[in-house]
Amino acid sequence: MSGAGQGDSTRVVHAGLGDPAHGAPFLAGPVFQAANHWVGDAGPGGYGRTGNPTWSAYEDALASLEGGDALVFASGMAAVAATLLPVLGPGDVLVAPHDAYPGVRVIATEHLERAGVEVRFVPSSTDAFVAAADGATVLWVETPSNPGLTLVDIPRLAALPPRLVVDGTLATPLRQRALDDGADVVVSSASKHLTGHSDLVLGYAATRDTEWLGAMRSWRAIAGAIPGPFEVWLAHRSLPTLAVRLERAEANARALLEALPASLDPRYPGFGSVLTFTLESADAAQAFLARSALVAEATSFGGVHSSAERRERWGTDDVPPGLIRFSAGIEDTTDLVEDVLGALAAG
Ligand SMILES: *Cc1c(COP(=O)(O)O)cnc(C)c1O
Repeated sequence: MSGAGQGDSTRVVHAGLGDPAHGAPFLAGPVFQAANHWVGDAGPGGYGRTGNPTWSAYEDALASLEGGDALVFASGMAAVAATLLPVLGPGDVLVAPHDAYPGVRVIATEHLERAGVEVRFVPSSTDAFVAAADGATVLWVETPSNPGLTLVDIPRLAALPPRLVVDGTLATPLRQRALDDGADVVVSSASKHLTGHSDLVLGYAATRDTEWLGAMRSWRAIAGAIPGPFEVWLAHRSLPTLAVRLERAEANARALLEALPASLDPRYPGFGSVLTFTLESADAAQAFLARSALVAEATSFGGVHSSAERRERWGTDDVPPGLIRFSAGIEDTTDLVEDVLGALAAG
C-alpha cells in the first residue's frame, strides 16, 4: 500500500497494487474483454468501451500519484480532447500558450474555434496568462513548456477566476503536483516518462472535480478514445521504475548542462529529462545528430535511450533552425557526456 508521506520510489513501486494476495501476482495480468457476462441492471462493467479492470488498477496508481481521480486514454491527445471538447462551447474563451504542444493548437483552432469558442494564444509566461485571463473560461498551460522549457506559476494562475488545466507531461507527477497547487485538471502524455521505453502511446487526465471527471469519462466512452488493456498493463508494469529512471535521466541532463559550452545556449528547467541547446545552423545540428553514437535521432522524450532532434524540422515551433531538443536517457553519465561532446567537437 502506498501512503502520502512516503518517498517517490516507494510510491511508484506500490501505486495501484492494493494488498498482496496469497498465490496472486503483485500486478494482475491484463483483462481482455469486449462483452462481459452481465446479469440484470446495466452498469459500466458491462462492455469493454466503458470500463476495464486493468484500466482501473492503473488509474488507481495515477490517482495516488496526482492526488485526484484519474482516467486513462488511448493517447495524450485523447486526454487533451476529452478535457476540452466536452466542456467548451459557444461564447467560452480558452487561453493557451502559442508554443503549446502542436496537437493542442490544432484542437483549439480547427475544432474549438469552429464550435464558437474564442481562443487567445499568449506567450508561455505567468504574466501573459494573467493579462489574458479576463473573461476567460479555461486557462491551458504547459509547464515546463516544450520546447521553450519555461515554467509558469501554477498557484498564481489557479487563484484567478478561469478554470486551470495543466499539461504536466514534462514534469510527471513526481516533480509537479498540479492539483495540490490548485489546478482543476492535469493532463499528461504517458507516452513519455511515465512509460519510459518508447514503446507505448498512452495518456491520462486527473482531477478532483467530479463533474469534469464525468464529462471526460463519457467522452472517452462515446468517442471510443480508449486504450487497449495490454498497453495499460505494460504502462503499469513500467511505473515502479519511474523514480529511478527519472533520477538517472536528470543526473545525465545536469551533467550535459554543465559540460555543454555556454555558446550553445544550453537550457534546462531544473528537472525532467529534456534540455535544449542551439548549434549555428540546421546543417550543423543534423551533422551532430548523425555523428553521435548513443543519441538516436527521434522525436518524443522521456525514454530510457537518449534521443534528440532538430526541433525546427516539424515547422510547428518558432525555434532557431539549429535548436536541438535533447532527451537524456539512463545511460552511464560518463559515456553519454563523452559521446555528446565528441559529436560536437568533430564539427
Ligand atoms: C507528447 C505530448 C502530448 C501528446 O501526447 P501523445 O501521447 O503523443 O498523444 C501532449 N502534450 C505534451 C507536452 C507532449 O509532450
